[in-house]
Amino acid sequence: MRKATQQQTKEHNRKLVLQTLFEHERISRAEIARLTTLTRTTVSEIVADHIGEGLVREVGLGSSLGGKSPILLSLVADSRHVIGLDLAQDRFLGALVDLRGRIRRTEEQAVPPRGGDAVVSAVYELLDRLVRGAPTPVAGIGIGTPGLVDAQTGVVVNAVNLGWTRLPLRRLVEARYGVPVAVLNDSQAAAMGEYTFGGEHAARSSLVVINVRYGIGAGIILGGEIFHGDGGAAGEIGHVVVVREGGSPCRCGNLGCLETVASTHAIVERARVMVRHAKVAALPGAPERITFEAIERAFAAGDPLARQVVLEAGRFMGMAISSLVGTLNIRRIVLTGDVTRFGPPLLDTVMETLKQSVLARLLEGTRVEVGQLGPRAIVLGASATMLKDYSLLFRATNPRVASVT
Ligand SMILES: [Zn+2]
Repeated sequence: MRKATQQQTKEHNRKLVLQTLFEHERISRAEIARLTTLTRTTVSEIVADHIGEGLVREVGLGSSLGGKSPILLSLVADSRHVIGLDLAQDRFLGALVDLRGRIRRTEEQAVPPRGGDAVVSAVYELLDRLVRGAPTPVAGIGIGTPGLVDAQTGVVVNAVNLGWTRLPLRRLVEARYGVPVAVLNDSQAAAMGEYTFGGEHAARSSLVVINVRYGIGAGIILGGEIFHGDGGAAGEIGHVVVVREGGSPCRCGNLGCLETVASTHAIVERARVMVRHAKVAALPGAPERITFEAIERAFAAGDPLARQVVLEAGRFMGMAISSLVGTLNIRRIVLTGDVTRFGPPLLDTVMETLKQSVLARLLEGTRVEVGQLGPRAIVLGASATMLKDYSLLFRATNPRVASVT
């Protein structure tokens, strides 16, 4: 019993020291001791272990306040890598990420038209290539997938586009590669990416990412942690009803959900209907020739019809976001996904709608902005989930890919 406790304390201290090294570019042993309140002897022992494992190195001398100049330590950013996957794009995207969150290599993989097992094989192919290309041990794999995910068990409960139902993705990938795996919903991964790497924020701050693509989801970070909700489906705002009367049928079976009026698909459909009645528009006259890209070009050229369609979608987004802001009082709202191409006019429309729906006091200091990471938000977020677990860096060994054919 006593032995177990000592072991736990040691592990805890090792994590604490490594976390402090993560949070600083360069730092001395004395400074680590001061910040962690561990003794200098304990810090020196742990640092010696970290140096032995190749995780940390001495990088020179710091300035002295009298006496000997302290030796500075730094994390060896490429001593381990983590892998982030984004399964929510038209082509799967995978990235090999170093310990400082820098993408060292990316790979893409076509998504098989048949869902189910063929898609699992495509995920393996992508991972095999990334693992083989890793110059140092892979410490973990983070996967952002569309659909409903049970983050506790790593089971994809339902991902319609990939043909997955109750797929134990984490168990499968862990068994094949022999490293820890995290599976999370794509919007949650995007939120984690923007929170970790997308600019300035306080360490315990909160943010909401609204991810608008073919589907719409929100990722919610509260006090630095992903908020999953009791059923694991927090942030499913795509299926909040925003059209009270005469709404279109949604793939979930309801009428008038946010996805039916503000997803990229809904924007294209709406433009196709409107162009039939328009006298002049920069959009192609034949509805079937209207694509999302055509709308983007017409919008940028100031076409009134394109602007009307897009900004209408923005108002519906604002309505759905207002319930989150009104409930959680989160001040940083970040849009990611294809709609971010419509830039400031869309952001202004969302903000205007929030002002009409939320108490002014709640909106003080609220910002609606476009994500900083672009299409890389999900792979970076998925890898950030792994980087947060410092303990997995200690047991990083080479994944079993060598035996994979
Ligand atoms: Zn729906």
